[in-house]
Amino acid sequence: MADSPEQASTSAVKTGPWRRVRAILRAPLRSLPSRIILSVFGAALATSLAVALVSTSSIESFLRRKIDQQFPATLSSASERLDLWYAQRRLDIDTFARSTTVMESAAHMNLSEGALARRRASEALGQYLAYVLERFPQYEALLLLDAQGAEVLRVGTDLPLPQGLLESVSQVAASSLGGIHPVPGGRVQLASSPIVDSAGRRLGSLHAMIRGKSVVPVLYDEEMGEAGAIYIVDREGSTLFQSPDSAPRSNFPLALPAPGAEAQVEDYASSSGDHVVGSAVRFARFGWTLVVEENYDEAFAPVVAVIRRILAINLGIVMLFGLAAYQFARSIVRPIKALSEGARRIADGETDVVVPLPTSQDEIEVLTRVFNEMSQRLRENQGELERSRMEVQRANSRLVSQNDELQRVNEVLEQLSITDGLTKLHNHRFFQDHLLREMKRVRRTGESLALILIDIDDFKVLNDRHGHAAGDTVLREVAVVMNSVLRELDMLARYGGEEFALVASRTDLEGARALSEKLRLAVCEARFQLDDVAEPATVTVSVGAAVFRGDEKGLFRDADRSLYAAKSQGKDCVMVAEETGS
Ligand code: GH3
Ligand code: MG
Ligand code: MG
Repeated sequence: MADSPEQASTSAVKTGPWRRVRAILRAPLRSLPSRIILSVFGAALATSLAVALVSTSSIESFLRRKIDQQFPATLSSASERLDLWYAQRRLDIDTFARSTTVMESAAHMNLSEGALARRRASEALGQYLAYVLERFPQYEALLLLDAQGAEVLRVGTDLPLPQGLLESVSQVAASSLGGIHPVPGGRVQLASSPIVDSAGRRLGSLHAMIRGKSVVPVLYDEEMGEAGAIYIVDREGSTLFQSPDSAPRSNFPLALPAPGAEAQVEDYASSSGDHVVGSAVRFARFGWTLVVEENYDEAFAPVVAVIRRILAINLGIVMLFGLAAYQFARSIVRPIKALSEGARRIADGETDVVVPLPTSQDEIEVLTRVFNEMSQRLRENQGELERSRMEVQRANSRLVSQNDELQRVNEVLEQLSITDGLTKLHNHRFFQDHLLREMKRVRRTGESLALILIDIDDFKVLNDRHGHAAGDTVLREVAVVMNSVLRELDMLARYGGEEFALVASRTDLEGARALSEKLRLAVCEARFQLDDVAEPATVTVSVGAAVFRGDEKGLFRDADRSLYAAKSQGKDCVMVAEETGS
């Protein structure tokens, strides 16, 4: 089925741009150097890309394995350090609370010994606690609470603590660590211990406000190096502490490993949208989560570095090979271009084409040599061909002139064959052909046609009297005389001896009679100068005429009979064959 015009135009739109795109893509492949350069480029690029792919993927999997081991190890050592550190804080507060100074001061302050004694005890305790605080920078403040949770003494920062918290920690039965509490400007955590005298009486409680920031160096592991950041996240998911120089994070989507199981390493998008790899573990002491996390790109930076290095090397290799391919293509293409230019010049008709030989001793050099030999042979052949052509041309022009000559001779011969030698009138043969043609023609056209026979009277006598040559002269002259009275249409021939025949076209019976009479009279009046006599001679003719009536044989017979009749009538007269016959 033929496409409708709409369909046809749509398909043209579809194929048009696609064809153009294909043409653009194929354009660089048309020239030999670009084909060579592109294939070398392609080969070098493909090889180096394959090497790059293999090496980067193996480096990546190596790194992945390393991270898989390193992250859980980091977490576990950080968790251990943290646990130890907190255990130490608990031990610290226990030790302080059991120190003699604290116990004694607390005892004096508790007893109603009088204001002076209480003040002295308070001063002594303050000095001791200040000394301790100086030695233990991880504490913000140290404070002594009474049994009701009221602050009796504080050394260090005067950050206000919620009364409810103080009341609850003042009741601790043994040294313990509390939860994290927000305070203006940060977070604090209390390490608490009851102060009990040797008799087992409760004298109050001692509390150390742990400086939030002091946890941070614990998290930091020298060995961890660049393995990212560690975060401590509370039950609600907020970050409590993080290793130095790490970005603030929140909402870790990491699933905690089952108790006793190894921490898993996963990669995921962090809350800030970065691609990260991380691992998490539960810190049982406070129900926190420890998270180690690193930016994916940084974690795999060695891979990126390798890729960069490989790419740089690849680029170098590709450029090097490309340059080599370019030089190689040029060395091939230059002689090929020279060859094709030579071939084009030969095609344009030049013969003196010599292509310079390339310096290389290779197939192209052989090809160029063979090309030059071919061109040389072509030149020789062409010269020979040119010489032969000139010869043929000369022979041809000779033939042409000979042909002209032959044609001329033929024409003369042709003329001679139909001409009577003596009178130069048409001869008997031509007369007969002409009469036949005319009879055929008038049979078709219906025109009238007459035949007139003329016979010189007593010619024998003239011959005998004046000689044969004189007879010839008379014959020639009679022919001239008769010809002079004829029309273009008429054809006069020498029929034989001293007899003439005239074929008169478009001439009827009366016309034939008149023409016959005219001829007879012209001859009769003519004077013929003969050599042997002074007086010009005269001759007469007898004339017999007939018209064509459809019978070819009858025409001549009728004319001949008329001539015979004219002779019989005494000569020098005209007889015409009437319709009824002569
Ligand atoms: P008639 O009046 O009855 O025609 O008599 P005639 O003498 O003319 O006729 P005849 O037939 O007796 O003789 C014809 C002569 O014409 C005989 C021949 O020698 C002569 N004759 C024929 N041909 C030539 C020719 O070419 N040259 C010359 N000089 N004479 C010729
Ligand atoms: Mg005769
Ligand atoms: Mg005669």
